[in-house]
Amino acid sequence: MPNLPFRVIGDEKKLTQILLNLLNNAVKFTDEGEVTLQVQVLKQNAQSIKCLFAVIDSGIGIAESDLSDIFEAFKQVGEKSRKIEGTGLGLAISYKLVQLMGGNLQVKSHIGQGSMFWFDLTLPLADDIQLNDFNNNKQLFSSHQIIGYQGKRQHILIVDDITGNRLVLTSLLTPLGFEIMEANDGRDTLEKIAGIRPDLIITDLIMPVMSGFEMMRTLRQDKNLHHLKVVSISASPDLKSEASRNEYKFDAALEKPIQLNKLFNALENQLNIKWIYDNNTNNISENDNEIFNGLLIPESEALALLYEWAQDGDFVKFNKKLDDLTIQYPLFVKKMRQMSQTYQDKEICQFINYCQQEKSWQ
Ligand code: ADP
Repeated sequence: MPNLPFRVIGDEKKLTQILLNLLNNAVKFTDEGEVTLQVQVLKQNAQSIKCLFAVIDSGIGIAESDLSDIFEAFKQVGEKSRKIEGTGLGLAISYKLVQLMGGNLQVKSHIGQGSMFWFDLTLPLADDIQLNDFNNNKQLFSSHQIIGYQGKRQHILIVDDITGNRLVLTSLLTPLGFEIMEANDGRDTLEKIAGIRPDLIITDLIMPVMSGFEMMRTLRQDKNLHHLKVVSISASPDLKSEASRNEYKFDAALEKPIQLNKLFNALENQLNIKWIYDNNTNNISENDNEIFNGLLIPESEALALLYEWAQDGDFVKFNKKLDDLTIQYPLFVKKMRQMSQTYQDKEICQFINYCQQEKSWQ
């Protein structure tokens, strides 16, 4: 998704809910094949972006005759066995939520071939992030660049009765080098745990068969398992504060929809790991650059040296210094490299002056 802006303004909870509903269905109705989430820029100007969101599966498909009222509440079609799991409300809710965000949820499907649910939204670009906002959200911005962690391979058990929710976490954490295992509920976890001994459990709280709370009580009372690190994920602030009560002894409590920076913080603290960041600053898109008008700036001494070398035209030393600064100040370095590639010494000096000024306000 190369052209996507890094941040837009919109109702994160609604959008997450819509996409999770659609992804859950796609996974539920696809026994074999694939499920894809596509996000594409349709149109963009200085203020806003028009984005297409599409969830495509190669599953069982929906009959043409059922498509016209598929977004109506309690509508369930197809085989009986698959209806048991659902309520027939997911699509009706998603349809309403898309409408509330100014879009229109649509569907195309062929029996035996798969389905595509899609909508487009026009969202304002978050190009007005101020320095303070940026600094307060450093973790959020840096989580964007996490590509792995240092140290031995960590095993995480994800517990959730909804396949799609597990899938989201699994596909987020597997590429970072975690060994992921899954369980459907508390009971399933207790049965599996003897054989797998994870370093950390991430668990939903409300689940059929055995809830996260009940599972936790059992774990904490077992002298062989009481030390296990467990992070809860709850669907509401009430459940989160319930999970934070001492009797359950969760090691951290997160809320749905999961905020990446909070999840990465919890993993870092509980597993005692150090994240590896992508220092290839070319991965940061042009649009990100616009957004970072409040970018993180190196110390004055470093700025002074860069100024001097740019003025002298000594780009060997200049570039070497940038190499040293890349990990800590990726966006600053990106901006500098863009300018130094075309030897714009005057602009570089001007930009550094501006940075010195900003620095004195930071
Ligand atoms: P449910 O809780 O039953 O999944 P939804 O409102 O989410 O309710 O979906 C309504 C019905 O639409 C489902 O029961 C299913 O028959 C059909 N459906 C939804 N998404 C898909 C899909 N991706 N592939 C095939 N059928 C689907």
